[in-house]
Amino acid sequence: MPIVVQKYGGSSLADAESIKRVARRIAETKKAGNDVVVAVSAMGDSTDELVDLAQDVSPVPAPRELDMLMTAGERISMALVAMAIHDLGISARSFTGSQAGVITDEAHGKAKIIDVTPGRITEALGKGHVVIVAGFQGVSQTTKEITTLGRGGTDTTAVALAAALGADVCEIYTDVDGVFTADPRIVPKARKIDRISAEEMLELAASGSKVLHLRSVEYARRYDIPIHVRSSFTPKEGTIVSDQPGPAGAEGTEGEAVEAPIIAGVAHDLSEAKITVVGVPDTTGKAAQIFHAVADAEINLDMIVQNVSATDTGLTDISFTLPKTDGQTAMEALTAIQEQVGFTGLQYDDQVGKLSLVGAGMRSNPGVSATFFRALADADVNIEMISTSEIRISVITRSELLEEAVRAVHTAFGLDSEDGEAVVYAGTGR
Ligand code: ADP
Ligand code: ASP
Ligand code: MG
Repeated sequence: MPIVVQKYGGSSLADAESIKRVARRIAETKKAGNDVVVAVSAMGDSTDELVDLAQDVSPVPAPRELDMLMTAGERISMALVAMAIHDLGISARSFTGSQAGVITDEAHGKAKIIDVTPGRITEALGKGHVVIVAGFQGVSQTTKEITTLGRGGTDTTAVALAAALGADVCEIYTDVDGVFTADPRIVPKARKIDRISAEEMLELAASGSKVLHLRSVEYARRYDIPIHVRSSFTPKEGTIVSDQPGPAGAEGTEGEAVEAPIIAGVAHDLSEAKITVVGVPDTTGKAAQIFHAVADAEINLDMIVQNVSATDTGLTDISFTLPKTDGQTAMEALTAIQEQVGFTGLQYDDQVGKLSLVGAGMRSNPGVSATFFRALADADVNIEMISTSEIRISVITRSELLEEAVRAVHTAFGLDSEDGEAVVYAGTGR
């Protein structure tokens, strides 16, 4: 029997009615003659609620216990979905990530999957059960502790299961019709993309498009598994994420290169903060000391900017962005080396937003940056930092200007849809 792997996000499982609706969809897939394995997220915004609760109890919760707490959300969903499938006359078995053989490293809160040993899944499938797996969690190979994969990680659970089980495709069911040219919650005129390369999707996900967890796209690319992002609320086809050419003439395929869009989409991100190290002596080795301290605190940086030093002082400023959740740790790590490095101060700014324009066509089309910066200027958006890759331009702006900036850039590149507004079926966007 062909194996189908599906993932249902929290917004598709927000309450009892939604769970029964999803169960019907799973049952139909089983009745159509497939072996079905499903990764589920926690209901609605319940993971955020668990995190809030933990913070009310303990301002900086112990990472091991926070993972224990957060994995409870997915356990609730998996059991309820399995119950609802039973009531439709189909047998189902739920498994935690650990039971399903999702083996990770030991990094609590951001564990990486290092192996999947799906013995219990294949055994259950062999007995004719539908298998429901709790997403976003695993067990550490070395410490044997329960871990989580980072927010949004159920996408990665699903792709990892699809790869381990040899599924042809991994279906990601969510609250929008697929991947759009921008987040439909802030750009109602965003267009659904029928097919997008894994390369472009990686850049969009890395730039804040939370429709797919970044690591799920990396994983799918490594194992050559196409992802089908689609709505759990309609039967419509969604977006195929794959580097393989699609059917002749399909959007984004090689055969259609002449028509291929230059720009895939616009992403935005409000999850980062900016730190400025003020008055750094402009001598060799200072940047190395600063970034070593941040790296030793296990913080991943995003953009980095160093100004030219003022000739009369010989001092310069270095700014960088990082996840807001790492802000406090970074400030502490830098304060600890202030005397040794000799900088004058630190500034922390969490009112910043990042806007990114992504498209493989940037490589060969001059003028993209000119249009981009013109659109931002016309929208009166001041730019604080810039970074680029081969297929992306990103800027940092004031957070309150970000949404307006995204709409302006979307329009400037002709991405606005002619046929009505994008539908957001559920979810709070939290
Ligand atoms: P789920 O609960 O299904 O995991 P998420 O909230 O994680 O759902 O992801 C779906 C959301 O991603 C959409 O509701 C939308 O607001 C947001 N999103 C951001 N960028 C995009 C994009 N380019 N295309 C589609 N959705 C996007
Ligand atoms: N429930 C987890 C989260 O909210 C994982 C997921 O939804 O993918 O981040
Ligand atoms: Mg998600």
